[in-house]
Amino acid sequence: MPIDKQLIEELEALRRRNLHRCLRTSQPLGDGYLQFDGKRLLNLASNDYLGLCEDLELPDDGDGAGATASRLIVGNHPGCDELEADVAELKGTGAALVFGSGYLANIGIIPALLGRHDAAFSDRLNHASIVDGIRLSGANHHRYAHNDLAHLDQLLSEHASHRRKLIVTDALFSMDGDVADLHRLVELKEQHDAVLMIDEAHSGGVFGARGAGLADAAGIADRVDVQMGTFSKAYGCYGAYAAGSATMIDYLVNHVRTVAYTTALPPVVVELIRQSLAKSAAEQWRRERLEENAAIVRQALREAGLDIGGSTTQIIPVIVGDAGRAVEVGNELQAGGIAAVAIRPPTVPEGTARIRLSVSAKHQRADLEQAVATIIRVVAK
Ligand SMILES: *Cc1c(COP(=O)(O)O)cnc(C)c1O
Repeated sequence: MPIDKQLIEELEALRRRNLHRCLRTSQPLGDGYLQFDGKRLLNLASNDYLGLCEDLELPDDGDGAGATASRLIVGNHPGCDELEADVAELKGTGAALVFGSGYLANIGIIPALLGRHDAAFSDRLNHASIVDGIRLSGANHHRYAHNDLAHLDQLLSEHASHRRKLIVTDALFSMDGDVADLHRLVELKEQHDAVLMIDEAHSGGVFGARGAGLADAAGIADRVDVQMGTFSKAYGCYGAYAAGSATMIDYLVNHVRTVAYTTALPPVVVELIRQSLAKSAAEQWRRERLEENAAIVRQALREAGLDIGGSTTQIIPVIVGDAGRAVEVGNELQAGGIAAVAIRPPTVPEGTARIRLSVSAKHQRADLEQAVATIIRVVAK
């Protein structure tokens, strides 16, 4: 098998650089714990920030398990329309469009908006699905230094002649836990006659009134052209959405290939998402608990002199630099009862390997305090 021989060599090269990954089985146990590789660990690696995942109930009325067609054919079951009305209502936009996943949303929306005569202006630390969406669009790709909006301003001036200019950014950065300056971004988009798309994957449900997101919290949601977000993180389900004007959504329905050429989300999933959106909107205590828990962890790690970058949220990196060291720390934390997986290049820039902690509303304060003490001890070694 000559292909296997080549692949083995490439896999060996990854192992030598401490970059080899494997799939490990994990299962939530409740109260912020999980079963990982057969062991009970405090779960500081999940995106279930509000603890909604374990509180959702499977519907038992048998609405049908599968969707069985694209929404543009006969897959557009009533749940899809109801969910889109829920999202538009929460976001205060004219309309919304639901996608199979956040990855599909980003690789669908961006090529629908941009072609090769257009330009994308993208934060250097944007999620991989945004990068892939831009590549797929064939548009000119201008990356600005992370959260450096003076650099963005300069790039927009230098490349003013494109037919259409799209500024695209994560609202909350998934590997650093810092947030974009949305006020300044809407100003720049208006000054430069550009389009603004934000990705609220990690901030949806967590910030804003009823969890409507960071654009809502900043009071500028009506000046953002496309508010994309997912149901896969704080909402504890699967799937994603774009919210925008009725015209924008009509355009996307007609141009997004990852809506046209893929099957609709199944009714059972749509029903779980609607349950989750309603619970999240109604249960403010989840956001309050999460904010308190995250603040406790950030403060304790900072006081101990650990490098947590610019985190101001529930995502807290502990930057250790070297990929090998990050793996070592991850393993030691696991031995100490904590699931907090090492994040290495190419997911983060070379030399900034880290342990990424994510806090949940479900974590007990005593568990977090004990975990923080373990992390400080292991990292300081
Ligand atoms: C997770 C994530 C996505 C992808 O969402 P999925 O629903 O998991 O496919 C997109 N954008 C950002 C910023 C993310 O963190």
